[in-house]
Amino acid sequence: MSRSLHVAIVGATGAVGEELLGVLERRNFPVKELTLLASARSVGKTRRFRGQAVAVLELIPESFCGVDLALFSAGANISREFAPRAVSYGALVVDNSSAFRMRDAVPLVVPEINAADAYRHHGIVANPNCTTAIALMALAPLHAAFGLRRVVAASYQAVSGTGAQAMVELARQERQMVEGQAITSAVYPCQIVRNVLPRIGNVLPSGYTDEEDKLEREGRKILHLPDLRVSTTCVRVPVMRAHSVAINAEFAKPVSVEEALTVLSRAPGLELLNDTEHHAYPMPLFQAGKDACAVGRVRQDAALDNGLAFWVVGDQLLKGAALNAVQIAELFL
Ligand code: NAP
Repeated sequence: MSRSLHVAIVGATGAVGEELLGVLERRNFPVKELTLLASARSVGKTRRFRGQAVAVLELIPESFCGVDLALFSAGANISREFAPRAVSYGALVVDNSSAFRMRDAVPLVVPEINAADAYRHHGIVANPNCTTAIALMALAPLHAAFGLRRVVAASYQAVSGTGAQAMVELARQERQMVEGQAITSAVYPCQIVRNVLPRIGNVLPSGYTDEEDKLEREGRKILHLPDLRVSTTCVRVPVMRAHSVAINAEFAKPVSVEEALTVLSRAPGLELLNDTEHHAYPMPLFQAGKDACAVGRVRQDAALDNGLAFWVVGDQLLKGAALNAVQIAELFL
């Protein structure tokens, strides 16, 4: 790609799209021209980029004429329909949806972990699921050192992971709660304020949900570890932003807490916050808005051989979506 690019954001008015604008600006990404795309509902809206108002246009098949880089965050159906169009116009697509992640011809990339895979693309590079990306930021360096075998995980996922409307829903329900009004739900099937919802995604015949399957399937692909076994429970919590994951991991080699802390403290894109005694552990409230993920509560697992238990938190709109997508694009500058 040339050094200064015509960039398109598909889903520019969404939770991830808004973050993409901020990340491109903050990282001084070489944008020559910016095309903002969303549904017909958003025509007439503008978004600010580098001090200028940029109009939001309706996504149409011809939207990608002249585009070098197309960042997709408008859901899997839109990606399936329009990403091949963008590629046919010569654009590199970085896709935030689940549409292409498990296709053999599409690299699935977290740059700190498997950047080299990105260069094997055929026009599309996929961004992993947000919980997968955040969990792997800690699991991958431990795997490199000790050989990962099995993982049991429970996620505590923020409402912004569902999209912009879910953030509106949590804020509204908080207000309704304080004002003593009836709680109304439109995005989630049940009240989310003062509650947790132990189902994210569609239920599979196995009883797991498709969201829970992703950590295993995407983890195997990113780590090049086809035998990895993962059991996940995904839970939505009334947190606005940043996902947390409680992880129990079993390794091939013996691992001590001290060795694990050394590995984790050197891992790129990861902060170690591991002074439980003094309440220094990662929390979503404080990780929101930060590029780095954080790991803490590191301890020897009581139930597994060669096992560790720990807690990882990351801003899923950043490392789980917009930041990771821009980092992938930066590999091609
Ligand atoms: P969102 O807040 O609901 O935003 C959806 C975006 O898609 C909006 O800009 C919307 O435009 C646009 N859109 C919807 N229908 C469209 C259509 N027919 N044509 C063109 N644009 C259309 O959702 P989000 O949370 O940003 O998620 C977007 C994608 O990123 C999803 O695939 C999601 O799985 C993935 N992702 C999200 C996160 C996260 O933390 N939220 C993390 C990783 C990956 P309008 O405003 O005009 O409707």
